[in-house]
Amino acid sequence: MAQIDDLPPLRDVIRRHGLSAKKSLGQNFLLDLNLTTRIARAAEPLENVTAVEIGPGPGGLTRALLALGARRVVAVERDERALAALAEIAARYPGRLDVIAGDALTVDLQEALGPERARIVANLPYNIATALLVNWLTIEPWPPWYDSMVLMFQREVAERIVARPGGKSYGRLAVLAGWRTEAKILFDVAPSAFVPPPKVTSSVVRLTPRPVPLPCDSKVLQRVTEAAFGQRRKMLRQSLKSLQADPLPLIEAAGLTPTARAEEITIEGFVNLARAVAAQQQLKV
Ligand code: SAM
Repeated sequence: MAQIDDLPPLRDVIRRHGLSAKKSLGQNFLLDLNLTTRIARAAEPLENVTAVEIGPGPGGLTRALLALGARRVVAVERDERALAALAEIAARYPGRLDVIAGDALTVDLQEALGPERARIVANLPYNIATALLVNWLTIEPWPPWYDSMVLMFQREVAERIVARPGGKSYGRLAVLAGWRTEAKILFDVAPSAFVPPPKVTSSVVRLTPRPVPLPCDSKVLQRVTEAAFGQRRKMLRQSLKSLQADPLPLIEAAGLTPTARAEEITIEGFVNLARAVAAQQQLKV
């Protein structure tokens, strides 16, 4: 195992602090510091960077981020049992680790960071990974407070994030991610790397915000993609009826074919649809 610092091995940390993994908290810990270092390296260069980590747990990734030179790590952890273990890391790196004890879905990270820009790096709890990502992708105003995200997901979710039109993985997540970021799968991580091992392979994904995405309202884009992919096998003229009784004028205004299905529509097509919906709403006001 790599000697990245003089802190005890993660197995000892887990034993000493009674950190038996809880399924309800999506806990699958990484105990190999070589691997956590590999994930942290994907977020380099880290000098002068504030890293935001969701769910540090026993702190394997936190330690790698600090050892690789992150100026500061702001970590949000919901499991109070992990706080004492994280305090030991904070003592080893004075002034560089701030732990927020709370729920990442409700903590206001923007407020915690102030005017500082940050980089999100995390082995996410899988039960809330998609919800967190959607929150980060729909932040207003854009560009957001983070300059990139390096995140671990289940492989199947990673494929839905980077999917292109035409396949079964292409859906709401691919449209949101592709609209506002450039997303790339960097590498896979086998179930055996985690304690306890999850049932499926995981993937590390990097998402880099586009400085100027195609202009459209993120809330309207979400509504449009929910309607279209909610009935993905149906033609747009049918699936978009959940948006309005006669969706043909919208489809026409967006320059799309009424008989097309959601998975054939490009991101630009969905943006045009969202703009048509927004324009119509403005007319009604
Ligand atoms: N980063 C550690 C690692 O790589 O070994 C742990 C990753 S584990 C997959 C997910 C972590 O997220 C756990 O520590 C869990 O307690 C924490 N967690 C779960 N739900 C959370 C929430 N709503 N807010 C903050 N942390 C949460």
